[in-house]
Amino acid sequence: MLQAAALKLDTYLPRSPRKNRYFRLVEDNYEQLEWVWDQKYQQKYGYWRPYVTAVIYKFLDCGDPHLGFARVKCDDCKHEYILPFSCKRRHFCPSCHQKRVLEFGEHLHEEVLQDVPHRQWVFSLPKRLRPYFMYDRKLLAKLSRCAWNVLADYLKAGVTRNDPIPGCVIAVQTFGEFLNFNPHLHIIATDGCFCPDGSFMTGITPDAADLEAAFAVEVFDLLKKEGKISRIIINNMNNWEHSGFNVYCGQPVSAWDDAGIERLSQYIVRAPISQERMLYMPVQESPDGTAKVVYGGKTSRVNETFTALDWLARLVTHIPNKGEQMVRYYGYYSNKSRGIRKKDALIDTTENPSPGSVNTATTIVKSDLARKKFRKNWARLIQKIYFVDPLLCPKCGGGMRIISFIEDDATIKKILMHLDRWLPQTHDPPQVEADRITIHIHPHRSYEWWEAIKYVSGNEYSDDTIVQSPYEDEYSQLDPCEYNFTD
Ligand SMILES: [Zn+2]
Ligand SMILES: [Zn+2]
Repeated sequence: MLQAAALKLDTYLPRSPRKNRYFRLVEDNYEQLEWVWDQKYQQKYGYWRPYVTAVIYKFLDCGDPHLGFARVKCDDCKHEYILPFSCKRRHFCPSCHQKRVLEFGEHLHEEVLQDVPHRQWVFSLPKRLRPYFMYDRKLLAKLSRCAWNVLADYLKAGVTRNDPIPGCVIAVQTFGEFLNFNPHLHIIATDGCFCPDGSFMTGITPDAADLEAAFAVEVFDLLKKEGKISRIIINNMNNWEHSGFNVYCGQPVSAWDDAGIERLSQYIVRAPISQERMLYMPVQESPDGTAKVVYGGKTSRVNETFTALDWLARLVTHIPNKGEQMVRYYGYYSNKSRGIRKKDALIDTTENPSPGSVNTATTIVKSDLARKKFRKNWARLIQKIYFVDPLLCPKCGGGMRIISFIEDDATIKKILMHLDRWLPQTHDPPQVEADRITIHIHPHRSYEWWEAIKYVSGNEYSDDTIVQSPYEDEYSQLDPCEYNFTD
């Protein structure tokens, strides 16, 4: 039985999202946004997606200790603190997104990219074609394929061996500088191709403009096949002086530039906005009585002012659908190729494998390796993001351990009251309309904490089949047998 009065607990609030302006912007305006959406924004941005409501509520609960927390205790001096759960919503929750960005950077660097030179590529579309991808997000996956087709041919053409294979990681980004809907692809591609003998051949220095016409043909074909545009529109657009299709190619990043590769990996999945460049002016502070957002553009270096509602409306168009993948792997980096290589590596190192046992062993080892790596990295990732190591005792520097998860309402209240941290909820529960999907927002266990408790306690998994990997989410496209993906 927990004796709250006997506890000396600190609250460790890694994010404190409730205090910042971004949080206030969302909290102050989300209800009205949903209320006016059909009338004001539907025509421009499409139907309101119930999933957006779910993401917003999760975000508003992120880091709120009233919804549960972990108790972390120092083995040496017995110091304790509580750590609230996080929402894990990508794109919308800045801190949770950032955590995923860092994880993804490490994943790419350590698990996917080989020690060969790479380049960044960016493929973008004319304004005229962008809305199709907003109304029908399934097209974004196909857009990714269009770029791969063109780039693969180009990279193969740049080497002189037979059967060369390039490798690409393609991330879909939907936002422009001021959150306008601008679907484009950020690509990390091998700067050359792998050859069947296992060697790598660097290609010729590319000229990005070479690819624009071919990319246009691929995209036109896609949209025509999907019934979005007609031959007349294509002919018309083909006569434009500037096609609007753009391909950019960066400088090569050498095989030994670890920091460069990790930075690039993080960049391709970065968040739609930077909180540092955003200023929120609530109704009370706005001269004309309308809440506003002033945002500083990164490249243009100009400030633009929006009503808070317009800004939020733009922002929610960039929330991917539940389970929607934003990153894909192709060629040498495809799941299939990576799977085969892992399997081969396993066979090489297994003594006298019996034919029956190889397959089983392969599957298990694939998952285990990735998870172990992540378990090892976990504490360091948290440190990177919060600049504090939650597993290091702030009092004595000793190792800390998660001793329990507190999810029971009565116990939460008891502990928070004791700590003088108990506050009435700052937002109301969702208003559910009869024709809307009912959304239950439950306090939830954060995946990281399950990982952490196992890592810290040194326990091994006993339930590998049900524990989700850190890449349960969008950044991965690993085989379904390897991992589960849900939001
Ligand atoms: Zn201690
Ligand atoms: Zn969050």
